[in-house]
Amino acid sequence: MALKHDWTKEEILEIYNKPLMELLYEAATIHREHHDPNTVQVSTLLSIKTGGCPEDCGYCPQAARYHTNLEGNDLMSVNQVKAQALRAREAGSSRVCMGAAWRNVKDGEEFDNVLEMVRTINKLDMEVCCTLGMITENQAQRLAEAGLYAYNHNLDTSEEYYKEVISTRGYEDRLKTIDNVRKTNVTVCSGGIIGMGESEEDRAGMLVALATLNPQPESVPINALVAVEGTPMAEQEPIPIWDMIRMVATTRIVMPETQVRLSAGRTQMSREGQAMCFFAGANSIFAGDKLLTTPNPDVNEDMEMFRLLGLNPQKAFEKKAQPESIEAANSKYQPKGEKPKWSRPGHQIERNLKAQEKARPKA
Ligand code: SF4
Repeated sequence: MALKHDWTKEEILEIYNKPLMELLYEAATIHREHHDPNTVQVSTLLSIKTGGCPEDCGYCPQAARYHTNLEGNDLMSVNQVKAQALRAREAGSSRVCMGAAWRNVKDGEEFDNVLEMVRTINKLDMEVCCTLGMITENQAQRLAEAGLYAYNHNLDTSEEYYKEVISTRGYEDRLKTIDNVRKTNVTVCSGGIIGMGESEEDRAGMLVALATLNPQPESVPINALVAVEGTPMAEQEPIPIWDMIRMVATTRIVMPETQVRLSAGRTQMSREGQAMCFFAGANSIFAGDKLLTTPNPDVNEDMEMFRLLGLNPQKAFEKKAQPESIEAANSKYQPKGEKPKWSRPGHQIERNLKAQEKARPKA
């Protein structure tokens, strides 16, 4: 059956608010039609450059303007990344996702190093994903040529609520980056966070934005906010597990072929809660004891949960063939040194300003 790309907020809200048993049954049925329900893809997230980010994302401990006791680090070396990737492969991961706390990618030595990291991990026969902020089409092409499998760029929330979370860049830039990735053969990973104080309409709005993309993202991470001390969202109450289950099930129904990834917030979830998310259609997790900068269950705990639930880790390149990796010397795409005009709305977000004020050293 052809995928539906004209979802409306009303239709999605109706699904989200179905009686739970009906919602679960529908999601689990669709899940079985499109995926093996006992296979879960395992990704390892590696923070290759931590902290010091100039953006003001209200949920993020890596934003330099908030005081969060985060230990930052400069860009890791290719060898460090290779060692971590080998460890991740050993522990059952088929994908390494490298995250750098940048607003956008800039051509130059650091990006060249990231391209080398992509080539290195591709040669380990693992899927490589990057999340590096906004990128141009040329940068997306260079990543594709290096052998990148996926690019992550989250929409975070609905377009309306986005204005309450971030003031340093616009929603349209997020969509533009996804569009730039789509011009290559790199797959798209894009999702969001629930529990930031948004309404159910906003959750549905985010799913409309993702599900109406054509093609739909190959993977959609659903995060539950991890409220970190010092960030503007430090006081947010954790969301009930039922919200997470409903969000996962709804995502599965509106994007049947997508890999739905349980991401941040798993430490706050019981095994029973996670099992219900897998039943509702989640078929990917992030493994490792840290998710960029917030805690995550350790690998052994996850493998024990897999054993208990009879789940198997997905092998690399089961969904799509391994991309070819071209050496830098043979590259068709050269750096253009572009200076794209990414937006900077600059409106005032009260809670972001308050957190910033608190972080400022007293004179
Ligand atoms: S979410 Fe990304 S862009 Fe936003 S502050 Fe954190 S590291 Fe920077």
